[in-house]
Amino acid sequence: MTTPSRRAPFYKDVPDEKWNDWRWQMSNRLNTVAELANVLELSDSERKALEAKDLFRVDITPYFASLIDPRDPHDPIRAQVIPTDREMAPFTSMMEDSLAEDRHSPVPGLVHRYPDRVLMLVTTQCASYCRYCTRSRIVGDPGQTFSRKDFEAQIDYLQHTPQVRDVLLSGGDPLVLAPKLFEEIISRLRAIPHIEIVRLGSRVPVFLPMRITAEMCDMLSKYHPIWMNIHVNHSNEITPELAAACDRLTRAGIPLGNQSVLLAGVNDSVHIQRKLVHDLVKIRVRPYYLYQCDLVEGAGHFRTTVSKGIEIMEGLRGHTSGYAVPQFIVDAPGGGGKIPVSPNYVLSQAPGKVILRNYEGFITTYTEPEDYNPHAVAPLEAQIKHRPEPGQEGVLGLLEGHDMFIKPANFETVHQRGGGMHRLKANEQKWQPLGIGQPPELIEGDAKETLPLISSGDDSK
Ligand SMILES: *Cc1c(COP(=O)(O)O)cnc(C)c1O
Repeated sequence: MTTPSRRAPFYKDVPDEKWNDWRWQMSNRLNTVAELANVLELSDSERKALEAKDLFRVDITPYFASLIDPRDPHDPIRAQVIPTDREMAPFTSMMEDSLAEDRHSPVPGLVHRYPDRVLMLVTTQCASYCRYCTRSRIVGDPGQTFSRKDFEAQIDYLQHTPQVRDVLLSGGDPLVLAPKLFEEIISRLRAIPHIEIVRLGSRVPVFLPMRITAEMCDMLSKYHPIWMNIHVNHSNEITPELAAACDRLTRAGIPLGNQSVLLAGVNDSVHIQRKLVHDLVKIRVRPYYLYQCDLVEGAGHFRTTVSKGIEIMEGLRGHTSGYAVPQFIVDAPGGGGKIPVSPNYVLSQAPGKVILRNYEGFITTYTEPEDYNPHAVAPLEAQIKHRPEPGQEGVLGLLEGHDMFIKPANFETVHQRGGGMHRLKANEQKWQPLGIGQPPELIEGDAKETLPLISSGDDSK
């Protein structure tokens, strides 16, 4: 079913109690040429990278290293954790913080990008380091890690920000924190009444499955609802050890999802991805997102075209269980957030008809009702409660009639050609909607202040 347990011959003398002890695994991680050359034959490119200064941190648990086929220079696990000199090659549009996370942080380590949820970075340390890490600007560097003071500031911000109902703990990897500190963070979050769910983003089950102990699962189950996303990129990572760790987590009531990254030479093919998602649902892990590789320094050679991702989605949807199909996401460079990308299934539309195609190319007509009467838009109080931050209404705001436009910053001045005014209304007024057909409560003064008519692209505020 899963990849059989493999313990590199190099480790055959390590007794089981040590091998299965997460502390032993953490303190025996591989990071030098000499250590890695013991378990596999390094290429010149790998040696060069390992000997380079200022390279993004290397550390690999013996468990994860033992999953590499030492004779295969293109092994998909090897490429994820052993650097090559291609990491040092710059590329067009390469950035240090491609998702502009630092700009969206009200306090260090807290990224508040979306209206109702935050990403909370609690450490910069991981069990092993992925070569394509999107946060390599801080991850791996103990000097960049977060202090007690940062943590208190994060908690303080969350206590005073009632629109946050979902906190995603990440880093680094929250599961490498000292057990006591880890529990303290979760219990402090749980004590904030408006925080409805706590999510963990972790690759520990994959790098260090022995860390998922019964004690950890018991601890987590005291703070439900807890959700977790793991990070598996290739079926070779799905071992009996990972399966058992996932079983312990799901039995503790934690729903598991998987986030993978589309990586050239690792998993950039329909058949590899289809096997991956099938192997994941077999261990009760629901594929959640498949990410396009970010424009981050060091990751250039892992990037594929976006069309490769669309092709993979074409090969999954309809061809396999809906539960096994992740969403393909491009995390927008410049801080635009996650954008789902998929093949087009809507071919055309006319009043009363939608023309759709399925995965086989069958084209159908959905005839729409002629007498459909939609529920009225939610009352203003409900809208404000749901989305108190102006400027994040997006396209939904256009559909609900709160805004008529979404315009780039300075859109007005760019088009100012200096012509005379011919009409009765002065300046701006003649471009404003007259309010005909809008829900009346939204035209009042109050509503205009909370839900401004014009969403500008100005992100300086
Ligand atoms: C990915 C991410 C989230 C969570 O996004 P979901 O689509 O809800 O999983 C939240 N905040 C930030 C900054 C993120 O990058």
